Amino acid sequence: MPSRLNVARNLRSLRTAVAAFRKKRESVALVPTMGALHRGHLALVKEAHRRADRVVVSIFVNPTQFAPTEDFGSYPRTFDTDIKALTAADTDLVWAPTADVMYPEGFATRVAPAGAAKVGLEDKFRPHFFGGVATVVAKLFLQVTPDVAIFGQKDYQQLRVVTQMARDLDLPLKVVGIPTVRERDGLALSSRNAYLSEAERAAAPTLARVLNACAGRIQRREPVEMVLEEGRAELGRSGFAVDYLEARHALTLAPVASLKDGPIRLLVTAKLGTTRLIDNLAV
Ligand code: AMP
Repeated sequence: MPSRLNVARNLRSLRTAVAAFRKKRESVALVPTMGALHRGHLALVKEAHRRADRVVVSIFVNPTQFAPTEDFGSYPRTFDTDIKALTAADTDLVWAPTADVMYPEGFATRVAPAGAAKVGLEDKFRPHFFGGVATVVAKLFLQVTPDVAIFGQKDYQQLRVVTQMARDLDLPLKVVGIPTVRERDGLALSSRNAYLSEAERAAAPTLARVLNACAGRIQRREPVEMVLEEGRAELGRSGFAVDYLEARHALTLAPVASLKDGPIRLLVTAKLGTTRLIDNLAV
């Protein structure tokens, strides 16, 4: 019979469990999540197993990365199902702190990322977001002390911000990004896809289709800004309210005018009804 998955809910049990791995000289990978797990998260867990002896998955819906107007209260929480999926995926330890454990009374310190966190993409629409992410990810890194941390390229700007933070703060771990896991029709898996109505779900794959079409045209040397303008218009016609569709340098996220400005990443965020979908693609 499989042994029960160890779930640490306070720092003491987390540290005891990690110390037991370290005593056996085992390496540790961390997969940070907000729960409501899907195949995308499980692909991160699989990659974690490839890169370390032990896999720790954190589940924490981080209040500081949501604005008061956002969906913190209604964000899907499926803890029991998550634990079943993580047990089946051979996870060694789940770190599931409460908000009081993560942000005890009197908590007063913030990590304030710049660089990739201030380029006018997600940060323009969610100004609080990367400060919340960087602070909680720094805490998770210091709590779990992993050798490697696995993130999805799905949240591409976030991956760049976390990579930069780890480098700037000399955090002794490697940040790894894995490709976006998609539905058959191209829609990137996301916990928020559960919010889509049937009609919205039918329209949603247009986002990835437009990204693919734009990437192809830019590769064929069509002018970047014209391609993007037409992409935005097509999304608009398909019922999306576009926050941004941009071509950026894949590493710095600085604006690019043409292919010769460096490796290009297309990044898009658009709303269908009240659901905000995010995606990106390498050109
Ligand atoms: P979340 O729980 O949505 O905050 O995501 C936790 C981690 O899973 C982040 O590193 C995400 O980028 C990653 N992730 C979410 N969706 C996907 C996906 N469809 N493919 C790959 N990684 C994903």
